[in-house]
Amino acid sequence: MQLEKKDIRSLSKEQLRDFFVSQGDKSFRGNQVYEWLWSKGAHSFEDMSNLSKATRQMLEDHFVINHIRVDNMQISSDGTIKNGVKLHDGLIVESVLIPTETRTTACVSSQVGCSLDCEFCATAKLKRMRNLNPDEIYDQVLTIDQQSRQNHGRPLSNIVFMGMGEPLMNYNNVQAAIDKITSDEGLGMSPKRITVSTSGIPKMIRKLADDQVKFKLAVSLHSAIEETRNRIMPFSKSFPLTDLRDALQYWYSKTKSRITFEYVVWRGINDDKASIDALVKFCKQMPSKVNLIEYNPIDDGEFQQADNQAINNYIKALESNDITVVVRRSRGKDIDAACGQLANKS
Ligand code: SAH
Repeated sequence: MQLEKKDIRSLSKEQLRDFFVSQGDKSFRGNQVYEWLWSKGAHSFEDMSNLSKATRQMLEDHFVINHIRVDNMQISSDGTIKNGVKLHDGLIVESVLIPTETRTTACVSSQVGCSLDCEFCATAKLKRMRNLNPDEIYDQVLTIDQQSRQNHGRPLSNIVFMGMGEPLMNYNNVQAAIDKITSDEGLGMSPKRITVSTSGIPKMIRKLADDQVKFKLAVSLHSAIEETRNRIMPFSKSFPLTDLRDALQYWYSKTKSRITFEYVVWRGINDDKASIDALVKFCKQMPSKVNLIEYNPIDDGEFQQADNQAINNYIKALESNDITVVVRRSRGKDIDAACGQLANKS
């Protein structure tokens, strides 16, 4: 019986160096292979042109490279690209390239499906199948960096963990992927250009703070009224808003990094004065800003974007309390690539 070959990218650089020594070779070969795997994104041992044929064969005998493969690519009329990405076990996740005049942002997934149950999100209708490995997260970023270079003549500039899944429910792998993305041996990207978006899990937000992470944090708030939030994001019944608030204050005390609240305004749900007042009050308890995101309908019609008047009421109230508010237009709606629309439709 043949043993299952190991994914070579689960090895650290040290382990790779040790492997070569155990094969009677020089440890620096480990560095060479590591560079092929992580900086150059090699998909096969064949590609590793500075290794001898015998060495490449030896690697082939011991390992596989479990690379993701873009299975399906759709381009929106606004230039947004959605990648349906096939994993080594056949499961599929989606990641999105979002271009603006000056930047390219990658929106990446952290889980196959999602463990949470937000009523307004298409991904939540899928069962959570599994967490993504660090290299599967990293590969989504690398793929989009390459697409940005090809299509826009510039490297990727920003990353948001706003694709499928809840990043803080896959804490270690997301951290490991970000370590790789920001290290010189990976993409050497500044952590300031990376935003992790969470639906708000207090314990894990505290952990981020204790780990002194350098990336930015966004929290999907959508309502600062307990009852309403529990209704539209049922998992949050386990996490009272006061706990979330305390965790966010703790985050700020440790990182001095302002929190972004993501917020959709829906007709009949949170477009009233009480909701606006509650949000203003919540925001005033910590340095924060608000991104008002446009709702991307997900078929069942239960949720509808509120009218402009309601949005303007929010903007007026927040601004008059010196809270920064930005209105975010949807991108890639025509190909179901916008926030909350990722559900492997194709
Ligand atoms: N689980 C993480 C990241 C994925 S969702 C989180 O909850 O933050 C990314 C963002 O899209 C979140 O702010 C989420 O609330 C929002 N979102 C989900 N469904 C949406 C929809 N149909 N329209 C607009 N935004 C949506």
